[in-house]
Amino acid sequence: MDCIFCKIAAGTIPSTRVHEDELVIAFRDIRPQAPVHVIVIPRAHLTSLQDLNDEKLAGRLLHVAADVARKEKLDQGWRLIANSGEHAGQEVAHLHLHVLGGRPLGRMLQPAKGTPS
Ligand code: 5GP
Ligand code: ZN
Repeated sequence: MDCIFCKIAAGTIPSTRVHEDELVIAFRDIRPQAPVHVIVIPRAHLTSLQDLNDEKLAGRLLHVAADVARKEKLDQGWRLIANSGEHAGQEVAHLHLHVLGGRPLGRMLQPAKGTPS
């Protein structure tokens, strides 16, 4: 198993978990980009949303993301990001959702360097 998030799911790499159930776990990002930055992943390895074809798992991932936002008291707003593939800058090839909040998050997209917006 050569996937960081599979290792986190298995517990062989430590993480600060904020949620776990039989399908999904959520843990704090190691390099937070906002006061609250939680990663939500399926326990099973899927490379990205591109590979997700399971309504129950899709629902659970979204439900857990919203639940994390409620528990973290992100009442002033929050953002859900799922980077999928190269153009999105996905670094870890295990499907994951970013739950971000706790400060104003600015515009949704920053223009990529050297490319038209
Ligand atoms: P991506 O760019 O693939 O959407 O986001 C990957 C995220 O995983 C990044 O925000 C990065 O900080 C986070 N990350 C990478 N390695 C680890 C790790 O070992 N532990 C935790 N908690 N987060 C990680
Ligand atoms: Zn994995």
